[in-house]
Amino acid sequence: MNKITIAIDGFSSTGKSTVAKQLAKHLGYVYVDSGAMYRAITFYAMQQSFINRNSFNKEALINDLPKIKINFKLNKTLGFAEVYLNGENIEKQIRTLEVSSFVSKVAAVSEVRKKLVEQQQEMGEGKGVVMDGRDIGTVVFPEAELKLFMTASAEKRAIRRYEELIERGDKVSYEDVLKNVQERDYIDSNREDSPLEKAKEAIEIDNSDMTLEEQFNKILELVKMTIEDRK
Ligand code: C5P
Repeated sequence: MNKITIAIDGFSSTGKSTVAKQLAKHLGYVYVDSGAMYRAITFYAMQQSFINRNSFNKEALINDLPKIKINFKLNKTLGFAEVYLNGENIEKQIRTLEVSSFVSKVAAVSEVRKKLVEQQQEMGEGKGVVMDGRDIGTVVFPEAELKLFMTASAEKRAIRRYEELIERGDKVSYEDVLKNVQERDYIDSNREDSPLEKAKEAIEIDNSDMTLEEQFNKILELVKMTIEDRK
């Protein structure tokens, strides 16, 4: 089989993980949620009180990096892999608005990025991987055969994230979710190390007015064309 690497980047809550999971399932590829890894380190920093609303002790986190082990394990019932931090399943804990409010600061630390990028590159060694994030097409897999860059209006994205959080039972306001989405986009796009930007060869998909099905079909078409071109 002619397996490829699919890199999906884009702004927060553009539906990257939804389509990445659909693709991985359809193609029999491995799906890697790189954002979950940054969220896991952020969760660790919160547990150790290295980060809170008023301060961020970067040095303490950097010193602890060798102690932090992140891995994914398939949840057969859900059909996708969940993230573990030092052996503990933290899939639910990393999706809160609180983690979202700190994660971009943690993800701007070069030492954190170096550790995670190395692990991500190892996970993609055999190809047949769909990975979503902010720097997948630019830094993690610059040689990926297919690169997508997802966008949608900030309001549409905030509504999607808000509905997700409410469905989980979290008490959040739409305004706070919108503010978080905008803040993260700003920090992610302006950091010095590996800022969020569209890779030169990436195909931009604006899904503001697309249904999930339309989006999936369009992207699957691109995947098929990419695989066909390589034959
Ligand atoms: O994808 P998700 O929204 O879960 O990512 C959370 C955060 O992790 C992003 O806002 C960004 O700060 C960081 N991230 C990153 N590089 C990646 C994936 C995520 O900096 N490849």
